[in-house]
Amino acid sequence: MIKNSLAIFFIFSLSIGLCKDSKNKESHDCNEHGPPPFHGTIFINPDIITSNDPSTFIDLYYNGQALRTMYDRRVSDWIDLEPYLFPANYDDSLMIEIQVNPEFGSPEKARLVALKYAVVIGRLTTELRKDVETVWIHRGLEAFGGGNNNLLIHTDWSEKHYEKQGILEETFVHEAAHTSLDSYHANDPDWIAAQSMDCNFISDYAKEHPEREDVAESYLPYFAVKYRRSRIPESLAMKIEKAIPNRIEYFNNRSFEMYPIETGN
Ligand SMILES: [Zn+2]
Repeated sequence: MIKNSLAIFFIFSLSIGLCKDSKNKESHDCNEHGPPPFHGTIFINPDIITSNDPSTFIDLYYNGQALRTMYDRRVSDWIDLEPYLFPANYDDSLMIEIQVNPEFGSPEKARLVALKYAVVIGRLTTELRKDVETVWIHRGLEAFGGGNNNLLIHTDWSEKHYEKQGILEETFVHEAAHTSLDSYHANDPDWIAAQSMDCNFISDYAKEHPEREDVAESYLPYFAVKYRRSRIPESLAMKIEKAIPNRIEYFNNRSFEMYPIETGN
């Protein structure tokens, strides 16, 4: 049921650079703007959101095991299994069902894993969490994913890459942008116009996948310059503003629910 429509949106965050001869609709009259400033934007700065920032997470509880359909990158497919279930509550009234693969061994072990990510996800704004209904947690050395009203986590990749680089929160911003922003904005005529007027993309990854990745790739840099400017080098802020001024204006004109982020932090 959900499988067909949702598979389309499945996101391959780190499959950066695989698509070599993608079409760039905007490039014909925009050559003077040069190449995108970044390869991929989750890597641009680890301090945009950190573990010291507040989380909206309140609590979670163990709700037993039950049949669920989850996506697992290790088999590149949907699987039916009975994960440990942890409904997690956030202080803006949002709730997420965290589904932990039974491979973690016991409800107690699964609870620790669910708790770890529930807190981190709570650092995302209400806007980015609004359509996140479930979180899937598996082991495995595979990239995270967004879309499907979900955030997909593979814990080995998380530890070896995102956490080591300090970009766990930044990666969730990207993935949650797929989940909660893409369907509203990626096809908005004003967004398409902003893409065209900018005559550039923020990253190679966005340029290679302009319909699938541009909102998610652009949102984190926008967030950095608008809400975290004091945390990032000025040269980085200027690069972002030079590359995507019209997309920045597009996001500025939306009334995003930015709780718990405060301007000027
Ligand atoms: Zn993505």
